[in-house]
Amino acid sequence: MMIAAALVIASIAAAQAPAAGAPPRVFDHVVVLSVDGLRPDAIDGPEDGALPGFRRLLRGPHTLQARTDPDITITLPNHVSMLTSRPVGGPGGHGWTENGDPPAVRHGGTLHLRKGAYVAAMFDVAHDHGVTTAVIATKSKFWLIAQSYDGSAGAPDTTGPDDGRAKVDLFACARATNDAFRLATAQLRSGAPRTLTLLHIAETDSTGHAHAWDMAAGSRYRTAVANVDAALDGFLQALDAEPSLKGRVAIVMTADHGGGAPPLSHTEPRAAVNFLIPFAVWLGQDGAPEELVAMNADRRAVVPAGEHVPLEAVPPPIRSAEAGNLALQLMGLPAIPGSSANASQDLRLVPLPAPAAATSAPAP
Ligand SMILES: [Zn+2]
Repeated sequence: MMIAAALVIASIAAAQAPAAGAPPRVFDHVVVLSVDGLRPDAIDGPEDGALPGFRRLLRGPHTLQARTDPDITITLPNHVSMLTSRPVGGPGGHGWTENGDPPAVRHGGTLHLRKGAYVAAMFDVAHDHGVTTAVIATKSKFWLIAQSYDGSAGAPDTTGPDDGRAKVDLFACARATNDAFRLATAQLRSGAPRTLTLLHIAETDSTGHAHAWDMAAGSRYRTAVANVDAALDGFLQALDAEPSLKGRVAIVMTADHGGGAPPLSHTEPRAAVNFLIPFAVWLGQDGAPEELVAMNADRRAVVPAGEHVPLEAVPPPIRSAEAGNLALQLMGLPAIPGSSANASQDLRLVPLPAPAAATSAPAP
């Protein structure tokens, strides 16, 4: 009994202590940037010098070997995973497998009606803590998020002051990449003291579907990546130019899937070109590029890039589904209820101190 009690106390203490490698401080603004259909090899290699925006996002902890959901590599299910930090399938999954515009609410068009239980998202936790939230998307199917977290479908706020049931303050569907980035800039400049924004960019995906995920220099796909990069670079420069935002904005950049299997799509979940995605965390300034998988080798799977990893794997590889809980981690907020990806918010973002500098602690 004594041993069991001591173990319980030790585990509570471990849970309350700041995680080793936690980011040095809390961010007031987080943008989860999802570049639809962005293959990591499109921002890696000899041409990356021509991509100043993406290159800046890689000036921080990042990996070019993150994973989508293991069983489905299409847009809407994977975005729901990012926002809820749950897989698509399995008992703890959110269960939304469709990829078109959602049906009306009276026909089951919310995540909760589909699941048969409330499915909380990063917007629940943030909004209930007084954060201003936004979804800025470039595909109409994201209306599913607006429908699932509006004033009727969202959960009551039982945390501190009542911020209401509508968990998403702004929903905008933009037609063009530049418009979406402009809306995101406006949201950050709105004067709201704390904001959490999903910014979704479709241009890379729509180009891949029309002209294939062609990695040749100068291809239509590579040109689309460069177009997105130019808008991203302008967005980062707009942040640089705003003294009130300096160092207060973190960006989590990832993708819902890659593409190329089959050539004009991304429906084969076991194809590495589809399941491999970038995952980059920009910590308010250009810092040292750090490899995220290596930094988290004691808590996330380290597997060859081409190897498919099933849902049951423990520990899991870094997946885009971590984005929601990571965004909250960056804001100093708790994890999403019912979530599983990065649910202990232990994704390490700064390297461990060198062994010589570490204090020696007796083994338990
Ligand atoms: Zn697509």
